[in-house]
Amino acid sequence: MSTEPRTPMMRQWHEIKRAFPDALLFFRLGDFYELFYEDAEVGARELDITLTGRDAGAEGRVPMCGVPYHSVEQYLSRLVARGYKVAICEQVEDPKSAKGLVERRVVRVVTPGSRIEDSLLDARANVYMASVARARQRGRTAWGVALADVSTGELICADAGDNPWELLSAWDVAEVVLPESLAGEDAEAGARALGASVTRWPDRHFDPGHATEFLCRHFGTITLAGFGVPDRSPEAAAAGALLAYVEHTLQGRASQTTELRRWEGEDALRLDPATRRNLEIRQRLDGSFHGSLLWAIDFTMTPLGARLLRRWLDFPLRDRRVIEARLEAVSALVEDGTARAAIRAALRGVQDVERLVARVATGRATPRDLAALRESLRASERVLQAAGPAVAGLLAEHADALQPPRDVLDRLETILTERPPVSVSDGGVVREGVSAELDELRALQRDSRATLARMEQRERERTGIRSLKIGYNKVFGYYIEVTHANRDAVPADYVRKQTLANAERYVTGELKELEDRLLHAAERALQLEAEIFRDLCASVAARVAALQRLAHALGVFDVVAGFAELAAARGYVRPAICEEPVLEAAALRHPVVEALLGPGRYVPNDVRMDADRRFLLLTGPNMAGKSTYARAVALCVLLAQIGSFVPASFARIGLADAIFSRIGASDDLAAGESTFMREMVETSRILRQATERSLVVVDEIGRGTSTYDGLAIAWAVAEDLILRIRARTVFTTHYQELTSLEGRLPGVQNLTMAVEERPESGEIVFLHHVRPGAADRSYGVHVAALAGLPEAVLARAREVLASLETGGQGRAWPASTAPGDVPAPVAAAAEAAQADHPGAPAAASQLSLFGSVGAERRAAHPLERLLRALDPDGLTPREALNLLYEWKRRFGREERP
Ligand code: ADP
Repeated sequence: MSTEPRTPMMRQWHEIKRAFPDALLFFRLGDFYELFYEDAEVGARELDITLTGRDAGAEGRVPMCGVPYHSVEQYLSRLVARGYKVAICEQVEDPKSAKGLVERRVVRVVTPGSRIEDSLLDARANVYMASVARARQRGRTAWGVALADVSTGELICADAGDNPWELLSAWDVAEVVLPESLAGEDAEAGARALGASVTRWPDRHFDPGHATEFLCRHFGTITLAGFGVPDRSPEAAAAGALLAYVEHTLQGRASQTTELRRWEGEDALRLDPATRRNLEIRQRLDGSFHGSLLWAIDFTMTPLGARLLRRWLDFPLRDRRVIEARLEAVSALVEDGTARAAIRAALRGVQDVERLVARVATGRATPRDLAALRESLRASERVLQAAGPAVAGLLAEHADALQPPRDVLDRLETILTERPPVSVSDGGVVREGVSAELDELRALQRDSRATLARMEQRERERTGIRSLKIGYNKVFGYYIEVTHANRDAVPADYVRKQTLANAERYVTGELKELEDRLLHAAERALQLEAEIFRDLCASVAARVAALQRLAHALGVFDVVAGFAELAAARGYVRPAICEEPVLEAAALRHPVVEALLGPGRYVPNDVRMDADRRFLLLTGPNMAGKSTYARAVALCVLLAQIGSFVPASFARIGLADAIFSRIGASDDLAAGESTFMREMVETSRILRQATERSLVVVDEIGRGTSTYDGLAIAWAVAEDLILRIRARTVFTTHYQELTSLEGRLPGVQNLTMAVEERPESGEIVFLHHVRPGAADRSYGVHVAALAGLPEAVLARAREVLASLETGGQGRAWPASTAPGDVPAPVAAAAEAAQADHPGAPAAASQLSLFGSVGAERRAAHPLERLLRALDPDGLTPREALNLLYEWKRRFGREERP
């Protein structure tokens, strides 16, 4: 600032603002938070509020705008959603007792990743703040990452190898904290690709030694080895820097963080970002939640369970033992419906213990929060009782943690009133019988009130004014009010205090004395209540770790009971888990499509994959259910590996190390500038990363480019998957040509979607039933008809199709396809593509000739020749009909080239 601000308050503002240069400063002034200077301009613009000015002494008027304190959260959420940071500056002493300028301090910095306020958070999802640290190790660059959820206290770190962004992409990261030296293009672009906002944080926080020391001090340890984190490692650097930033946003100790967890990503089944998107796990391709896998399977009752389920879905397991522990637990609750119902009923009383505890630990809890915690602890005991003997597997590991810490629950029960107010300053937080002094003060207040009532009665009798009343207001205190009509009856000892339109207010010495006593008692009582409440919070905070374990256990019970409910409601079965790369299921359904269609409308299908059937090639018309089948297979494996039952009547699943799913460009609604490019990028990722233990679902690859290109690519990709990678694969395609791989390459099985053609109308019906074999034809024109394409266009399409089908007659298929050979169909396709080129004289140009120049230049179809030779007048109706049947037999099922 060029001019030294004159008024002391503006000087205070400048001083505070200097410490938070990158945040909008919400400066508390009475009942408002005010913004000044550029902050005010941003605030007025973003919040759509009026920009005013304030006299700032020598500076003249400076821009200002403000929001009322009671609705601040709504404004905060708008600013934070747009990526702003907001420093909340409060008055930290009572303006009444302040001498001169009220002391103010920033008590909290709200950033996209550091939201703790309930109103700014989705209860069913975590919001993470992440940090990324880089180190040189043995001549190569090593990355460490850390993640923190400030609202729950969770702190995780991981060795991210050579790419921190892939690891972070599996988490909901709202803000990435980068060392200033890294805040260049690459790292920032990586962070922004996650949809996160970027914060720069001084490099010294990321120094591995400094960060390790900082963490050790926080946890009271001398090394991080106990957490499984190497001291001075890149992940320790990331975690230390992140925790320091968390403390900056909280403007105090992050006491809700009681543990550092090392993330062992290698233990999880791998799902790359494209696969997560394509399988529509958390949301559909169009961004909606309705119709996602999570939507279909989330039967949880509490925010704790909802968040844990997301975590399980984001990180499916690979360790058979851990999966079995979950399945065992689910199984027990599927069988014991009574216990399941009782657990779920008890869970209804559980609130967001994790976030409540975090608020207690950071000194932000309200009396209502403690009451909610108490209610949840009571419910936790009920959950434990309800589970009874049905506790098995994973639940057995967590049952003990459900027992609330006795001391905490006892204190909450004995001290806190049943329905405390939101704010301690409203009083009524502490029960009777907790403090003798408080009880006495309350008795005094009660007595005084009775005395007041008696005094009012007595004065009415003494003055004869029946409408006389004793009242109270904040400015004047207690008064006796007499209407003007009765002014003459007012006794001489009444002292006038205030005149209203139709009444006069007075005090007496006696009233004043009573008032002093009463106000003093009330004030002292509130002070006492505040002290007792603080103590209570402290004793709860002392048990943070146990309460966090309890919160986690509640989440586990909730998810497991939800899985059991899902299984019971929709007829899911426990999958048998094995290590061999097999996949068998009977009456398999797609969990989401089944849920959307409602009971009984989904056509179940079987699947069988093993060494002889590793590669299922699924052909069939559009809309017949190919991709639904392929995804059902992938989701079945995914569900099994998060420990859920699966939508089938029987399932045996060989654990997969990864699931890859790729869908053709034209199915991809989230289309970018080049969907085909993206399709190829994702395909190459599959080919580079999939192993023999992976499950690969490739849906309509090559659709984003010309037919021959597409066929050539699909063919080559299929061969690579079959011969080199040998992963279990479901490959759907509309390229009939690929069906010739069956019998020529090992492990290939052709499957097709059954379609029924109504002989009378020629209409086709999709049966959604998968059977061995290849599709007869594509039926694309039929689908177009179903979609309502105009009849004239359809008729023309049938003509063109007939012409193409006869034109392709001569194409030959290879006798064998060996790796390395250019497969003949591809060569043929390439030839044909050549012929397609303008100027090339060839058979392939007949499409343009057909109809415009004349039918006589085409090579005639045999049926056409027969028709030409036929004299219909020479036929009996019976013969005509026989001929029709004969032709139908000969040509009706003809393979399309
Ligand atoms: P394709 O991939 O062959 O074009 P889809 O898998 O997209 O076909 O399926 C088309 C529609 O058919 C889906 O929207 C779904 O509602 C329905 N469908 C698919 N499979 C089944 C099934 N097994 N039972 C009932 N309806 C199904």
